[in-house]
Amino acid sequence: MAIDFSFSPELEDLRGRVRTFIADEVKPAEARIEGHDGGEPLEGRDRIGVLIELRKKALAAGIWLPHMPEEWGGMGLGHVELAMVQAEAAKSHYGPWVFNCQAPDEGNMHTLLHWATPEQAEKYLKPLTEGKTWSCFAMTEPEVAGSDPTLIRTNAYEDGDEWVINGHKWFISNAHRASFAILICRTEENPDIPQAANTAFIIDLPAEGWNEVRQIETMHGGTGHSEIVIEDLRVHGDQMLGGRGQGHLLGQYRLGPARLAHCMRWISQAETALDMMVERSLNRFSHGSLLAEKQGIQWMIADSAMEIYQSKLMVLHAAYKIDRQEDFKAEVSMTKHFVANSLNRIIDRSIQVHGALGYSTDTPLAHMYQHARWARFADGADEVHQMRIAQRTIAAYTDEGTTRRATGDLPV
Ligand SMILES: Cc1cc2nc3c(=O)[nH]c(=O)nc-3n(C[C@H](O)[C@H](O)[C@H](O)COP(=O)(O)OP(=O)(O)OC[C@H]3O[C@@H](n4cnc5c(N)ncnc54)[C@H](O)[C@@H]3O)c2cc1C
Repeated sequence: MAIDFSFSPELEDLRGRVRTFIADEVKPAEARIEGHDGGEPLEGRDRIGVLIELRKKALAAGIWLPHMPEEWGGMGLGHVELAMVQAEAAKSHYGPWVFNCQAPDEGNMHTLLHWATPEQAEKYLKPLTEGKTWSCFAMTEPEVAGSDPTLIRTNAYEDGDEWVINGHKWFISNAHRASFAILICRTEENPDIPQAANTAFIIDLPAEGWNEVRQIETMHGGTGHSEIVIEDLRVHGDQMLGGRGQGHLLGQYRLGPARLAHCMRWISQAETALDMMVERSLNRFSHGSLLAEKQGIQWMIADSAMEIYQSKLMVLHAAYKIDRQEDFKAEVSMTKHFVANSLNRIIDRSIQVHGALGYSTDTPLAHMYQHARWARFADGADEVHQMRIAQRTIAAYTDEGTTRRATGDLPV
């Protein structure tokens, strides 16, 4: 019987330690930072000071870099095990940062681990794993659809030992504070296939020619997503990451596990929303009974419970496929779409059950809702995932006379 959903006692112990750390250390600090403990919210140095103290405690507690191998100071976990740590960590939105497994640094660490030369890894990956630097990943452009990276216009041309880069990027998370960027540019004008036009470069920041225009104000505030104009930025050829024309491949490689890591964190948020929904329904009385006793409310609770269950199974199965080095693209795609949409539905239902309180900022729900919305179009928009899922399903049927291969290829 090969299917086993239990963890070893060591991993159960780890899960307990992460949960306790979040409850005893991170949650009280979160309340302090956000002023939910009765004090004023913390800003600037005070805020970062509290977070850095938490990082030191996490490192001392051995909860650090859950996504990295031990030789890089990480916990050496597989993706199934990582799902457990990420889900616990995301019970506070500071959790992933405290454990140094937050986007976009987490995805960039994976990318550097796989693609960097030993010199690049020493210079860029090492300080990132030590929590000494920040990084960003610069791909999306305002002028062309981010969903189709073959359209990228930011251009790099060779000039002796150097490359000269001009272009325009936006929504570059972390760029404001990053020590370096992984920048995707078009280098090939007539590639054999459209997916071979782009190349990645590592850019030390700040750099002459890398101009931050603004940090974009979003529906959840101004939160460090920058617009960048790149003018005659020069980089040495040694700064190329991966081979020439491999930028698309590198982006896809990065996005696979990074998408799933988002799902692991979203499950945690969805669970928090459902916990709050049930708690409220057990305490709110209307028209002769508690909300929890009303069928309309029970349907919302039941739908949310079923969706979280499906989300967890999908995440675990996709993670299992990554761990076994099997092709995981179809499963990650379906999981990302399903979990992102479930998250939005479940938070929305929780707000509904809370009424005006849910709409206020007295609970975290409003904040969670604003953050959740981007999940449906970033890292692959819903419709693009659906397009790929449909293509794979039709191809499976055409090849084999059954769609089974495209529905998780499970033994049932
Ligand atoms: C909070 C946040 C953080 C981000 N961080 C980063 C970052 O660090 N680095 C970075 O490079 N980018 C980042 N992005 C950008 C993000 O990756 C893009 O928004 C995403 O790739 C979609 O690109 P787009 O916005 O250009 O939308 P478009 O590609 O223009 O798509 C818009 C809509 O068109 C529809 N659509 C597109 N293609 C198809 C299709 N083939 N079939 C049917 N419908 C389609 C979909 O409904 C889609 O939502 C971030 C975005 C946000 C909101």
